[in-house]
This record gives sequence, structure tokens and C-alpha cells, in this order.
Amino acid sequence: MLEKGLVCTNCGRTYELNQLHYRCESCAEPLEVEAFESGEIIRGNPMTQSMLMRYREFFPFKTLDDSLSLGEGFTPLTASPSLASRAGVSQVYLKNESQNPTWSFKDRGSLSGLQHALKMGITRIGTVSTGNMAPSVAAYGARAKLETIILVNENIPVEKLAPIGIYSPRLIKVAGDYGSMYYESLAIGARQGIYFINSDAPLRVEGSKTIAFEICEQLNFEMPDYVVVPTSAGGNLRGIEKGFREFFRAGLISRRPKIIAAQAAGCAPIVKAFDKGELLVTREEHPHTIAHAIENPLPPSGNQVLRILKAGEGRAVSVTEEAIIDAQARLAEEGFFVQPAAAVGYAGVLKLRDEGFLEASHRVVVILTGGGLKYTAALEEHRLSAETCPLEKLAEWI
Ligand SMILES: *Cc1c(COP(=O)(O)O)cnc(C)c1O
Ligand SMILES: [Zn+2]
Repeated sequence: MLEKGLVCTNCGRTYELNQLHYRCESCAEPLEVEAFESGEIIRGNPMTQSMLMRYREFFPFKTLDDSLSLGEGFTPLTASPSLASRAGVSQVYLKNESQNPTWSFKDRGSLSGLQHALKMGITRIGTVSTGNMAPSVAAYGARAKLETIILVNENIPVEKLAPIGIYSPRLIKVAGDYGSMYYESLAIGARQGIYFINSDAPLRVEGSKTIAFEICEQLNFEMPDYVVVPTSAGGNLRGIEKGFREFFRAGLISRRPKIIAAQAAGCAPIVKAFDKGELLVTREEHPHTIAHAIENPLPPSGNQVLRILKAGEGRAVSVTEEAIIDAQARLAEEGFFVQPAAAVGYAGVLKLRDEGFLEASHRVVVILTGGGLKYTAALEEHRLSAETCPLEKLAEWI
């Protein structure tokens, strides 16, 4: 458990971990915690152990405040033979992140970001979000009794505002360009001592590593061929890749799975750049998709995701609105009710198998990033039927 430094994902310039740094001062690309080359899993009792404790040798903290856990992580990995046979691959495993305290994977990174804030003696945290990150940071801020500042777009609909407001953060609706808010918040945070645990903050990325760690354990260290990640800002994909990288270097796994970034065709800046063989994302001018949680027109970690995919023989895939809604229905048929953004991964599997990129022998893990009840408006896209009958006729009716 050495204290690590931060390193630029692009140019390698290093920074100290005990100061607020998010992006490189030379090249403006995102920073990450220096990778761990060794470490062990702390095999405690999973009924009493927290995620941070189990993997603490892979976190850059000498001590951890376990009392702030809300029981995040340790989500199930469920094999789905029927979704595998529909796709024509050897196996599909669903990593169900909707079983987190605020129903998305964001809780993993909110907790590790919070730990870092407390280490630095920072007592104000915040985030910029309209989606799942806002309720997650608000929940952990409430748990830690910290002043929590959530910046949202002024046009945010009530159904998204209420699940943030329930945790009573300082909720500020900001008028102006939403895309600029990410950068503006980092600048304000640095000046005023507010730790913005935004989408791709280095310590949020550390939290997402645990998804990879758990997959390794849940598959008995027999690595799948591909891991499919619905991707927006790119923080989660970066964490998953880093998790496999560190377990590989620590000798816990003998090979690393390849990563697939899945996006909605209506907002696919990473896929567009990937398809052109470019290493820089360009802004999606008119983003529009039902998969709101992954509708980021200019992903702050987009370039790093492109570098990861290139270096690791990964792939990027975009899927239509129709394919997303269909995948949401297919997952529900299997008992998994996820939000449209989280269905994008399985839709990507179907498309890549159709194209012949995925093969019949492949074992594929799909990350179900967030739960369906977070976005019930999507239910209007599905035909949900109910019958009605009088009680006296019920036996006959059935
Ligand atoms: C945040 C989010 C994503 C995208 O994660 P990034 O780290 O922004 O790439 C995907 N799905 C859901 C449900 C999310 O909340
Ligand atoms: Zn740099």
C-alpha cells in the first residue's frame, strides 16, 4: 500500500497525488494513478468485507475509512446461456451493476473519490451530472456528512432532479453550455477546495477497477475474450482496463480480455473516431438518444479510450435506437431490467456477431451499467400487455 503518484495517460508527466490534479498541464489529457505492479486480494469474509478492503492493496491509500461504505460493489456476474445462444457466442456473462446502492456502477468511484477527498482534508465534494453520477455523489456526500455541490443543467427534467434532491445536496441548476461545466467545475474546485468527483476523475477511475477485479474472481481467473462497456465520458472503461492491467502485472491473471466500447449511434464520438482510425474525438454536434446516461457529445476521456482500444486490440461499436430498445427487452426476458444506456452493451454484442467480428467460440462479459427504474420513460417504447377479468371467472380464465 504505497502512496502512488499521478501520471498523464498521454505524455507520462507525473503529478503528486496529495494535490487536486485531474488533467495534464502540458497536454490537457486525463491523469491516472500510477499502475500497481504487485498486490494480493485480501480474502476476508465477503459477508462483512467491503470492496475497498478486499482490494485495498490496489488502492493508493495507506488507510481507508471503511465506515463510509454503502455496500457498493460485489455485484453478481450471471451467465446467460439463452442470451449467448441468441447472439451465437459461447457464453454471455452479465455484470449487474444495477445492484449498487444508487443503482449504477458510479457508486464504486464515488466512494474511492470520497476517500481521496478525506485524505486531503477536503470537506466539500461535488460533481457535474444529469444522470447517475449526481445521485451517487449526493448519497455518499450525505453518508459522510459533507457539503455536497451538484451542478446540473438548468433544463433538467423533474424525474431526474428528484432522485438527486432526496439526498439534500446543494443542487445548483446552471444556465449555459453544459459541456463547458465539466472544465469550469475543475477550475472552481481547484481554487475553492471543492473535490469534484467527475466522470473521469483519477480516483473515480480507481473505483471502476474493482469491476475488473470482481470479474476475475467470479470467473475463477479464466479470462473471457471480450468485455463490453457502454461508454460515455470513458471513465468506467478506463477503470476496467486498468483493473485487468494491474491484475495481469501482479501475476493474478495470465492474459487480459479485450475491451469493446459500446455507444448509441445518436451520440457516438468515440466510435466515429475509432472507425476512421483517429486518436482524437471530435464533438458530436447533435446528440440524440434514448440512452441518456451515455449522451456525452465530447467525452473528456475519449482520446484515452481510443488509445486503450488501439493498444489492446479493442473495438468500438455503435447501435441504433431500435437495437437498444430491443436489447432492453431481451435482457428483461432474461430477468434483468436495465436502463437503455446499460442495454447498449448487449446490442453491441448482437451487432458484432452479425458482422462476424465476434465468433462462436467467444466468451463475452457485458457490463449492465445501471438499473431500469432510473428511467421509466423508456417503458413507453415497449409493448406491455395486461388482461382484466372478474374474480368469479378467474379460475376459468387462467
Ligand atoms: C455513467 C454511465 C455510463 C458511462 O460511463 P462513463 O464512465 O461516463 O463512460 C454508462 N451507463 C450508465 C448507466 C451510466 O450511468
Ligand atoms: Zn500530458
